[in-house]
Amino acid sequence: MRMVDLIEKKRAGEVLSEKEIDFIIKGYVEGKIPDYQVSAWLMAIFFQGMNNNEAAYLTKSMLNSGDVIDLTMIDGVKVDKHSTGGVGDKTTLVLGPLVASLGAKLAKLSGRGLGHTGGTLDKMESIPGMRFALTEEEFINQVNRINIAVAGQTKKLVPADKLLYALRDVTGTVPSIPLIASSIMSKKLASGADVICLDVKIGDGAFMKTIEDARELSKIMVSIGKAFDKKVTAFITSMEEPLGFAVGNRLEVKEVIETLNGKGPIDLENLCVSIAGYMVFYAEKADSLDAAIKMARENLHNGKALAKFYEFIAAQGGAIDSLDDFVKTEQVLPYKAKKSGYIKTIKALNIGLASMKLGGGRETKEDEIDPMVGIVLAKKVGDNVTQGDVLANIYANNSVNEDIITLLDEAYQIIDEPVGKTDIIKEIIS
Ligand code: URA
Repeated sequence: MRMVDLIEKKRAGEVLSEKEIDFIIKGYVEGKIPDYQVSAWLMAIFFQGMNNNEAAYLTKSMLNSGDVIDLTMIDGVKVDKHSTGGVGDKTTLVLGPLVASLGAKLAKLSGRGLGHTGGTLDKMESIPGMRFALTEEEFINQVNRINIAVAGQTKKLVPADKLLYALRDVTGTVPSIPLIASSIMSKKLASGADVICLDVKIGDGAFMKTIEDARELSKIMVSIGKAFDKKVTAFITSMEEPLGFAVGNRLEVKEVIETLNGKGPIDLENLCVSIAGYMVFYAEKADSLDAAIKMARENLHNGKALAKFYEFIAAQGGAIDSLDDFVKTEQVLPYKAKKSGYIKTIKALNIGLASMKLGGGRETKEDEIDPMVGIVLAKKVGDNVTQGDVLANIYANNSVNEDIITLLDEAYQIIDEPVGKTDIIKEIIS
């Protein structure tokens, strides 16, 4: 087989076989095929696409390039979730204890954040004492004991994705739907779960800008899941505004606790209850999907999910002594409405970038995070405001510079006509 023939085949829009795709991925990981040829092949995929079979073969070759986590020692159905990256997205921290409190097993590998969206690991690391460098044995024993464990991703998980992603990043081929699908699914499948829920964000600052693209990505990922005998459900959700009110690590953990106590923002609660319903139903802990959703809602309001959260953080060395002292910054600066009307947009990208510039996120991989800082919205899209009302509070440890205020100024659009509130979940594909 010659790489140049395979590039030409894809350039002509033909379908590659399992053997051909495996030849490319193996050859690239082993350093036998150079970057420039793989770049040309990626660009051919960008323009010609891949069918569902090709995307599944690509996923399989990528998955087999590194370690595959063996969760067979965990009794029962293992569930996992992935989000394509949202601002204020603390879903995993609510969902994990929630489904664990209903008997599903969440064995999750999580990553750190870069840019305007935060990583689950960064949020949880803001809890004093939390430890994520679990051995495989600790990880498996903890899931068997309390139904939930979260560990950091190992470097050996899907090395082909790390190489390909770096190349896509510099060749303009990141936004190819089959490439995104196989990148995400190879990592999820390598993590070993039986049931996978995918939160595909659409809107400002999200990978997918339109519902059509999100639908196409979701369908390919669900079909890849089927090829591997997994139950995959994709939730297409809106990122027109940040999820919940809080953006910033400890601020988000605080909101997680409020949500697990039945007092959280309704968009976050609805999203978590819906995803939890699917997980619990597929984990065979409820007779119907409706019953599973009802059980999930109940456990957010009866203290069971909150108790599981504290059990989970204690198992991994974490402790929160008092929520009153949990977030302390040098200043809390109100950001006020410049005009009266109805909030039409709160650009999630701007809020995420503003939080990052306060020190709540990383601009480069080496940046240190300040766990305390961030932004807490006081109003959401659809709310009626009067000039001078507080729209958000800025939690800062340094002076809040003009850049940050400009990002906020540009985030808000306030109009004279009433704006309806819409559901966070736009479509569910399984
Ligand atoms: N997230 C991933 O993990 N991979 C992509 O290609 C895009 C988003």
